[in-house]
Amino acid sequence: MNPAVRACALRRAYLRMALGLAPVPVVVWLGWNGRGAEALALFALVLTTMMVGTLVPRCALFGRMIKTLPEAGGQVLLTIDDGPHPEHTSAILDILDRHGIKALFFLVGERAAQHPDLVQEIMARGHEIGNHTQTHPATTFWMLRPVRLWREIAGCQETLSALCPGRPPRFFRPPAGHHNLFTALIAEVLGLKMMLWSARGFDGVLQEVPAITGRISRRLKAGAIVLIHEGTPVAVEVADVVAGMLKASGLKCDTPPTSLAFGDDEVIVERGAAP
Ligand SMILES: [Zn+2]
Repeated sequence: MNPAVRACALRRAYLRMALGLAPVPVVVWLGWNGRGAEALALFALVLTTMMVGTLVPRCALFGRMIKTLPEAGGQVLLTIDDGPHPEHTSAILDILDRHGIKALFFLVGERAAQHPDLVQEIMARGHEIGNHTQTHPATTFWMLRPVRLWREIAGCQETLSALCPGRPPRFFRPPAGHHNLFTALIAEVLGLKMMLWSARGFDGVLQEVPAITGRISRRLKAGAIVLIHEGTPVAVEVADVVAGMLKASGLKCDTPPTSLAFGDDEVIVERGAAP
């Protein structure tokens, strides 16, 4: 990745860090001057804002994100995270073919490097790939500092771009949806739009297929972005039920359109707008 682009991204990220830490001296000053209640209130406000912005996946406090498609298009987008997987990817691709569905696979860079044939297969069958970090540090991603975040997102972008020349990922999805003060900024510098979801069944933690697919079904409508995973004990079964559900809905189930128009957080995404 271009060192100048990296330096620019890190400079902007550390500026954000400085701004984020700006209230700290004020808290100390208030405490030092015997205004403990005010110091505590300010500290609690800053901490709550940071935690909500970071840990609530669909909260756009720290950057723009795509959470739905426009309803008017009558399209639903199926996104499949955490692959490629040596046992699940091919089976899921067969299911999607059977139902005439195209999907967006958010791939983990190091897994893609281990299974380049599966990445090629995803592309050959008309699906799209997205950036889901290089190593998928799900439990710590929310607290990564700019340098490590850059390594995760840029590393995956380099890996996937090398595997699919001319068709680099357009979208980035943070592991578990957690994104801190720097995540959207770094993704944007890399030409990526952060994409979350509007319908998920928690298949990463639950194993009851009817409960998982029932949750998705209740949120399924035009414009929905559906999230399921590879690599879980019920991955293929969930994919089969969800694909059938999407087919039965009559909604168009294709890869993301060339441009997406949103409300307040309007984002226009151009195909091939990666670095
Ligand atoms: Zn994931």
